[in-house]
Amino acid sequence: MASLEDLPIRDDLRGRKPYGAPQLNVPVALNVNENTHRIPEGVAIDVVAAIAAALIDINRYPDREFTKLRSALATYLGDGMKEENLWAANGSNEVLLQIFQAFGGPSRKALGFGPTYSMYSLLALTTGTDYVDVPRGEKFELSSELVVEAIAKHQPSIVMLCSPNNPTGTPLSLSVIEAAYDATDGIIVVDEAYAEFGSGESAISLLESRPRLLISRTMSKAFAFAGARLGYLAADPAAIDALRLVRLPYHLSALTQAAATAALNHSALMLKTVEDIRYQRDRMSLELAELGFEVFRSEANFLLFSGLKDSAEAFDQLLAQGVLVRNVGIPHTLRVTAGTEAETSKFLEAAQKLVKL
Ligand code: PMP
Repeated sequence: MASLEDLPIRDDLRGRKPYGAPQLNVPVALNVNENTHRIPEGVAIDVVAAIAAALIDINRYPDREFTKLRSALATYLGDGMKEENLWAANGSNEVLLQIFQAFGGPSRKALGFGPTYSMYSLLALTTGTDYVDVPRGEKFELSSELVVEAIAKHQPSIVMLCSPNNPTGTPLSLSVIEAAYDATDGIIVVDEAYAEFGSGESAISLLESRPRLLISRTMSKAFAFAGARLGYLAADPAAIDALRLVRLPYHLSALTQAAATAALNHSALMLKTVEDIRYQRDRMSLELAELGFEVFRSEANFLLFSGLKDSAEAFDQLLAQGVLVRNVGIPHTLRVTAGTEAETSKFLEAAQKLVKL
């Protein structure tokens, strides 16, 4: 059998490992920021009926423009959004890939503020875009000054702003996004994958007369629909025309369109667990602080906490007790998703025995 090294793979991919957190079968999985609650049974029944109805016409290609889904997404977002402001793909990762394909590429640069979502640099790599990582400020906060200075220095075609930021949970104020927009002629992407868990206003309120502002969202987190793979974008229709140039034909399956549209018709029910998840996040934050850890400000469904003697050892220790979290590679820290009350309790119980710095 040949190995990867034997193949004429691109030089810049040689020796690389595939991206992805371990998928282990454990009692308490708090490692990839899913909503750990199941979707309500009534919604599941409706989704199944919608998939069954779509199946009747499955011999035909799906609606390439997924108009019903875009309209349902626009209704969900409100804020004056119309079908033509919406776009979707198989997870927001694919939306972000399309943005890099359309606005990045060889001899272009993307700018991110690390630590941040590690897919940004990987998307840059696979699309031949240069990637510049500028470190965040103290406690992972971002100020307008820091962002504007980095834009002026690096002149990027794409600026990635993650709000709340993965893996730190840090929210971003709208004034920083406005300042970033005014500092560049390039594209500003605000990745709001975790927006529903926050208390601040969405950057969607800034879209009016900002055609270079692209806001990425997902049904994978608050909406508890990660397995369905549905990410979406709110932007000026002109930006969506750009993504049409790079998307694959019929990229969104008829089954995905049907499932997501049916789920969106029950958005209030689907989001019912968000309040409890926020509560569990804040509870974890308080209890971890009581245990002597430093917990960073988070408006997402996860927390980054610091003060561990050794992240890898702490990860293994939690895993041995059936609790899977994420070691994101920041020394002395781990990231943990807020789960159900029972899952969160299990984590907090196990956390008591972790060795501190
Ligand atoms: N953006 C951020 C910040 C994320 O954390 C994730 C998932 N971990 C994504 C985008 C992609 O999620 P999905 O493709 O499931 O929409």
